[in-house]
Amino acid sequence: MRNQCGIVRDLLPSYIDGLCSNESKEFIEIHNKSCDACREVLNQMKTEVSFPNEKDRVERLTAKKPFKKLKNILIISISSLLILAVILTAIVFEYLNQPRPVDTNSIIIQEIVIENNQLTVIGDTAHSALWYSGEYEINYDGVETLYLIPRYRQVSKENSSGRFVINHEFRGELLELDLASINKIYLQGKNPSDIRLIWER
Ligand SMILES: [Zn+2]
Repeated sequence: MRNQCGIVRDLLPSYIDGLCSNESKEFIEIHNKSCDACREVLNQMKTEVSFPNEKDRVERLTAKKPFKKLKNILIISISSLLILAVILTAIVFEYLNQPRPVDTNSIIIQEIVIENNQLTVIGDTAHSALWYSGEYEINYDGVETLYLIPRYRQVSKENSSGRFVINHEFRGELLELDLASINKIYLQGKNPSDIRLIWER
């Protein structure tokens, strides 16, 4: 038995690697059925093979670190770029979304009605990138002339056809004014010199 143990121990490394002959394999298996000591040695050797030793494990961990660092740098860079893109988009959108008067040449007037205290102006913008913001300004020169300043945005869902309708009811601001005395209405653009006569009695 002891002699057999020696042979079995010599053969065990090749047995684990699957390199020994069928005869040796059979010999080891039969022997191990009745020999606790050799079975124990075999189990121990198998455990050592399937679990890498501590030194290997540490080496693999340190080898992985540079990649982890690179990954973190990439994640931070991409996140920063995304945040920057969102902020820039918001700034550009905010800029384009500011209601502002436009060139009077880009506005086509379709209809103007003055009735009682009500002024109605219907028009379109010739510029497809401009949307009426729903806001306007009316200036009165104190005598007989009104200046109308509709405000447009470059991005808006408000009036995608480019159509604008101003329904202005004169109340407090022109109480003393008889609307019948107004005989000229101008469309005014970005600056006071940019005006166009759109209605005259
Ligand atoms: Zn044995």
